[in-house]
Amino acid sequence: MRIICAAAALISMAFAQTRSVSDAEVKRVHSSAILIDTHNDITSRTVEGYDIGEAKHDGHTNVTALKEGGVGAQFFAVYVSAEYVNGNHSANRTLQMIDTVRHDIVGRYPKDFELATTADDIERIHREGKIAALMGIEGGHAIEDSLRLLRDYYALGIRYMTLTHSNTNNWADSSGDINDPKIQHHNGLTDFGKGVVREMNRLGMMVDISHVADKTFWDALAVSSAPMIASHSSCRALANVPRNMTDDMIVAFAKKGGVVQVNFNCGFLSEKSAEAGKNVKPSTIPGMRGEDATAAEYKKKVPPATLADVVSHIDHIVKIAGVNAAGIGSDFDGVFCTPTGLEDVSKFPNLTRVLLEKGYSADDIRKIYGGNTLRVMRAVEAEAKKEQALK
Ligand SMILES: [Zn+2]
Repeated sequence: MRIICAAAALISMAFAQTRSVSDAEVKRVHSSAILIDTHNDITSRTVEGYDIGEAKHDGHTNVTALKEGGVGAQFFAVYVSAEYVNGNHSANRTLQMIDTVRHDIVGRYPKDFELATTADDIERIHREGKIAALMGIEGGHAIEDSLRLLRDYYALGIRYMTLTHSNTNNWADSSGDINDPKIQHHNGLTDFGKGVVREMNRLGMMVDISHVADKTFWDALAVSSAPMIASHSSCRALANVPRNMTDDMIVAFAKKGGVVQVNFNCGFLSEKSAEAGKNVKPSTIPGMRGEDATAAEYKKKVPPATLADVVSHIDHIVKIAGVNAAGIGSDFDGVFCTPTGLEDVSKFPNLTRVLLEKGYSADDIRKIYGGNTLRVMRAVEAEAKKEQALK
């Protein structure tokens, strides 16, 4: 791994020639892009009553910060924790999480957000000066092994689904427990799992391979008739965690039109952060939310990743798979540690500055920020139309 890291460092140094960039240029390029972040977990807080309209500084996401950061479209995570599998509460939780997007975010702040379900919606809503709000399910167990529920979720506006979360479900293996001998694995996707992918293709829901085990990825890649996304994953060559994608995966994915949306979680960007993070246990501090207490513990023990680390992951994807394969999937409010310089949604312009300094063109940045994701969405929409016409 050391050798790979050293090689990666050399490559990124070769790319490191910088030029000076004015504030005006950052602003101009940043506002010319439609910044589409494909993964944000503020929904796990809004469902508990957190008001996204209040500009507080106890998290990564609120309306004011989204505007400061120039976010054009936000995929909100309809995250269904594995704990809901016990007693079959996954569908209930999914519906509650969908409701928090529709009711607590879009419904409560209609001047700021509008629900989007297509690429055209995103462009129109962006032109109208609002933030396009989209929904993606995190955790394939949400469908409780039923294509009927999958179709219901599509009808409610869900436009992607991660085939698994950190838990292997009844039809797909997860990277989160792939080495746990107590878990019954399937060697990737079962026949039903392949049927889920096909039904997603037919509906026009993006297949999201973030969190899946490697074999699940390869099975999904073989089965899917439309390009896929990794809504919040980074590069395993730079941070060797099973959640990240290997170079072979990224290259094959890109060949089929897929986009890897880089995750900002320190532990997925930097091995130093990943190693230190292993020593942090969920913490409690009297009077503090459990997540905030654990985040405070992280701050003490984990050296944060940096903006430069984020750019290294983008560079790596661009180098091995081309500029059409990279995107942004922050995981804000779903992680305990965010990179220095990219602490919350308001800081996206810092990323624009560094990309410009490193020589990325305005066109490249527009692709990475949103153009590539719009391209996948349109391809997925077209594939669905084609498949529905055949029936
Ligand atoms: Zn996740």
